[in-house]
Amino acid sequence: MTRVGLLGAAGRMGQSLVRVAPEEGVTVAAAVDRREVGRDLGVVAGVGALGVPIVAEMDALRDVDVVVDFSLPDAAAQLVELLRGEPLPLVTGTTGLDEGAQEALAALAEVAPVVAAPNFSQGVTLLFHLASLAAATLGEGFDAEIVEMHHRRKIDAPSGTALRLAEVVAEVRGLRVVHARSGQVGPRSDDELAVLALRGGDVVGEHTLLLQGMGERLELAHRATDRAIFARGALRAARWILGRSPGRYDMSDVMGLRA
Ligand code: NAD
Repeated sequence: MTRVGLLGAAGRMGQSLVRVAPEEGVTVAAAVDRREVGRDLGVVAGVGALGVPIVAEMDALRDVDVVVDFSLPDAAAQLVELLRGEPLPLVTGTTGLDEGAQEALAALAEVAPVVAAPNFSQGVTLLFHLASLAAATLGEGFDAEIVEMHHRRKIDAPSGTALRLAEVVAEVRGLRVVHARSGQVGPRSDDELAVLALRGGDVVGEHTLLLQGMGERLELAHRATDRAIFARGALRAARWILGRSPGRYDMSDVMGLRA
């Protein structure tokens, strides 16, 4: 069984990952978080004792096959620095990394395999491909806009997934991404793509690409109703990454969608 070290073990995603790990053929062998320190990982996740205590020191992640990270940007950046010194495969889903942390991740990818994805769902991974096809095929007569909605506790906006989706469409069509419209902004220009973030309640994650033409609109939408999909995708990536060469990969590689 693949031995995973988990950063963010007491968080929503960390707990979800612990619950699905047995079905995915993975053992969580080390668990790090700054909350619930000293408590058993399985008890915190509601699946009964697993004999793995949650610890605060990231050093605990050294003795595993692969590290999986669902934490917060500061913690993820600290982890990347640690792994640069002692390379191990990394699967990271933490969003909102600043430019410095992104550069550190790129440097880590030179010495270890890294799967980084703002969204580990298979549906969303396919959405990126469909969005690219639709934006290229429909072309300039169709205005592209993106709307996303998440739960009220999410701290970054727009979501990493919405930003990636915007990047995919913007690349294909040569568009400029804008994040808000307010006041006397004038008519929409041909080269803009707005990304709007809605927040509320317990919404797990919804992303819609709208391609609005004259007299018709295509909408490509993905709705997540259970965060276990992200945990399963991340564990699929954790099994896939073992034995890979150093490099930066994403879920398209894991799903074999890359041409
Ligand atoms: P959360 O706040 O519930 O969990 C984050 C955990 O990280 C917390 O338990 C926190 O204590 C821990 N943490 C933070 N800083 C730490 C530090 N310095 N040392 C040790 N532990 C630390 O958040 P969540 O909903 O589980 O999401 C975690 C991250 O994953 C976010 O960035 C979120 O946007 C992202 N996310 C990604 C995907 C995906 O598919 N890629 C899906 C859902 C969420």
